[in-house]
Amino acid sequence: MRGKRGMIMGVANDRSLAWGIASACAAQGAELAFTFQGEALERRVRPLAQQVGSDLVFPCDVTDEASIDSAFAGLSERWGGLDFLVHAIGFADKQFLRGRYLDTPRGAFLQAMDISCYSFTSVCQRAVPMMQPGGSLLTLSYLGAERWVPHYNVMGVAKAALEASVRYLAADLGSAGIRCNAISAGPIKTLAASGIGDFRYILRWNQLNAPMQRNVTIDEVGGAGLYLLSDLAAGVTGEVHHVDCGYHIVGMKHPDAPD
Ligand code: NAD
Repeated sequence: MRGKRGMIMGVANDRSLAWGIASACAAQGAELAFTFQGEALERRVRPLAQQVGSDLVFPCDVTDEASIDSAFAGLSERWGGLDFLVHAIGFADKQFLRGRYLDTPRGAFLQAMDISCYSFTSVCQRAVPMMQPGGSLLTLSYLGAERWVPHYNVMGVAKAALEASVRYLAADLGSAGIRCNAISAGPIKTLAASGIGDFRYILRWNQLNAPMQRNVTIDEVGGAGLYLLSDLAAGVTGEVHHVDCGYHIVGMKHPDAPD
């Protein structure tokens, strides 16, 4: 990754999936810039950026087009070009991340869609003009996009739309030599995940029933992210790559798994 420059969006703290990917890319020599949402998170993100030798830290609230514009304007003043972008941003009102999907009100649906799906397209609109052939875009999804998972509700619907947008963006950008992929990560205890109802049960269920009989780590998500962002994945686009200790292949509880 030496000589490559990447924008990392979605670090909240050192447990964030975005941090796992950032650390893996930095360890291989990539130069990084970061965005944060709100002053409270700035205090967490700046020291992490410093750990990987970066002083490029921009505020960015993806619900606000002007805020996205200003983050990318700041970035292009310093860098001019961009080789990769990581979008690890999702949000839904936790009031609706429990109970029935059927009860989701319009406002909560639109907010989840806006922040968790449309924002990827919106940041790509700014990132792509800064990219040359070989550029790589990456977002984060979850199995709840493909299958019903208890409590995931409106986030599952937003992630399904996000995965579809990965395919449409890959088709739009393929001829320019820019790739677009998603990682579908297994459950990991993060700030965002703590808003999901009964998340501890989801973690335990995955641990017991995944082929590898454990949960995935942010370092493992980081390794897969590094691959997709690097030239090793030069022929890979439009892909939703599962990094979940194999849980997505399971059709039935293993007879030897404890209850
Ligand atoms: P996290 O809380 O560490 O990161 C979520 C990030 O989204 C935070 O940095 C937050 O500031 C940002 N964000 C929310 N609303 C925003 C807004 N309006 N503008 C800008 N940023 C905003 O949690 P995480 O689990 O690392 O989440 C990162 C991504 O990974 C999310 O898309 C999440 O859905 C996805 N994911 C998480 C898991 C898991 O189990 N943790 C599994 C699969 C996918």
